[in-house]
Amino acid sequence: MNTKNKIILLVVSILTTMFLFLIINITYSFKEYGIKSIDDNAKALALTIRHSLTSQMLAGAIKDRELFLSQLEDIPNINKIWLSRSEAVVKEYGKGNNNELPRDKIDQKVLKTGKTIKIINDNLFSKSSYRITIPYIASRKGKINCISCHTKAKEGEPLGAISMEVSIDKVKDMGISIVSDTILILALLIILVIILINILITPFLTLLISIKTVMNKAQNGDYSHRITNTKGQEAKDVASWINNLLEKLEGTLDAIDTKISIFLSHNKNIKKDRLLNVKNTINRLSDIYKFRKTIEHDETLEKIYQRLANILKNKLGIKDFNIFEADTINDSVCAVLIEKKIYCSILETGCRADRTNTIVDSKQFKDVCSFCKNNDSNFNYFCIPFAISNELDIIISINTHNEEENTKIRKIIPYITDYVDAAKTVIVSKKLMKVLETNAQTDALTGLYNRKYLDYTIPKIQYQINRADILFGLLLIDIDHFKQVNDTYGHGVGDEVIKIVAKTLVENTRNSDVIIRYGGEEFLILLYNCDANFIFEVANKIRNSLQNKQIPVGDSYIQKTMSIGTSLYPKDNENFDTCIKYADLALYKAKNDGRNKIVNFSAKLLL
Ligand code: GH3
Ligand code: MG
Ligand code: MG
Repeated sequence: MNTKNKIILLVVSILTTMFLFLIINITYSFKEYGIKSIDDNAKALALTIRHSLTSQMLAGAIKDRELFLSQLEDIPNINKIWLSRSEAVVKEYGKGNNNELPRDKIDQKVLKTGKTIKIINDNLFSKSSYRITIPYIASRKGKINCISCHTKAKEGEPLGAISMEVSIDKVKDMGISIVSDTILILALLIILVIILINILITPFLTLLISIKTVMNKAQNGDYSHRITNTKGQEAKDVASWINNLLEKLEGTLDAIDTKISIFLSHNKNIKKDRLLNVKNTINRLSDIYKFRKTIEHDETLEKIYQRLANILKNKLGIKDFNIFEADTINDSVCAVLIEKKIYCSILETGCRADRTNTIVDSKQFKDVCSFCKNNDSNFNYFCIPFAISNELDIIISINTHNEEENTKIRKIIPYITDYVDAAKTVIVSKKLMKVLETNAQTDALTGLYNRKYLDYTIPKIQYQINRADILFGLLLIDIDHFKQVNDTYGHGVGDEVIKIVAKTLVENTRNSDVIIRYGGEEFLILLYNCDANFIFEVANKIRNSLQNKQIPVGDSYIQKTMSIGTSLYPKDNENFDTCIKYADLALYKAKNDGRNKIVNFSAKLLL
């Protein structure tokens, strides 16, 4: 049911209820009044008859009362009128000429009790009447002394009764006429109300319905609908204000969305509601701006990758992913952040996504990348390449384990792109700084670290020692009789020999070990997590390796040896520099003992 019909129904119901009460009230009051009036008249008539009969009796004309009573029946609305004598009067004066014995039980009851009885015989569709029986009570008081004639009667005793049957049809007809008039007025009023509602309320209802439709669409994000079909000036004004507002909102949202979207990649309108789209876009921009501002202040590239990983994990909800750097010049890939594990041979074989510069989605084409082997049928991978600079690409490899994750990853790729784009310039500048730093810490001749690197790495070593109960082995190495090489073959050959020695050191140590060119032909090796046995083992391996090496010098070969002094940090001393000094002492001892020797530091060297 529409609103207009509801209002009409409500007003009609209220009016009908009011009129119903009114009709009931009028009918009841009118009936009461009618009956009261008849009752009063009946009582007056009864009194008149009594006086009249008494007068006739006194005048000796009591025999004419039949005539008198029949004349009374000619009074309008009086159907019947009759007298009845009490038993005492019948005994004293007989039944009377017209057999004035009680005619019914009502007469008998009134004569017995001395109380008036009234009965309304009310029928809506047939004749209605009012019956009243009034007793005549014996009394000495008043103008007429009843006891003077009815000598055997006692004071207060009923002597007779007068009964009347009066027609109340006129009262009933008048009542029906009032009710029907009232119903007619009600019907006219209802018609008037309906016309008024139609004229006054329809324009506002039409406007309301139109506002409801338009706002409902706007609520769901569609601001293109307008209010039409308005009637009346006020409704037209309201419609015009709302339409103007929607017009502005739609235009502004479009402009904002278009302008700010250029800062984001693939900013497809995900939601239908433009307002929500604008809110989303601004939120994304704000998050990216905050991310960029934060990483600008990060000191290391590792920290930036860690932050990117946090975004992938905590903000975008990606659980299993890895981040790789691809060096496009040297065609090599290295892992910069492993969240769980690497599922492919990217580090050895390179990356298909990076090579083809397209997203590799195993869900679209099963086993698309031959470098990734996984037998789990639910396992999928999305490898996304990002060009950071001419020399550097980043590959974010996301691994999924169910369909829900697959759908989600496809949706959030634009978000990942935004964050990587925001990080690009910061990564490039950090990378450049790292190159400069590495150059400053690298020895140009051998490619090993130089002494500056030691200053950089000592705090890291101390941090690791504080966290875990491990030892670092220090190997101080000096080539034996190196001057001879320079002197015999020249400085150039000397340099080549230094390079070969450096290579020998690299070949005989682990990736986690640090090799530093400590001086001209002196080297320092830091062996991670070792003991006295291991340090000697490594040192001996290096010494043997060099001693057995045929070093080309011009057309011939020479062989060189080295002396090695070792110490254990922090076992020998808690100060790193002191441990280096101890290794130097051991080296000195090795030289003194005849060279091509390994000497481990011991306290007796201090004596
Ligand atoms: P020892 O067995 O006592 O160590 O004898 P040694 O001749 O090796 O003596 P020492 O270690 O003192 O020799 C250092 C020499 O190394 C001095 C210098 O001429 C040479 N040297 C230092 N740096 C370089 C370099 O970069 N290139 C070349 N060719 N020679 C260097
Ligand atoms: Mg030396
Ligand atoms: Mg030397």
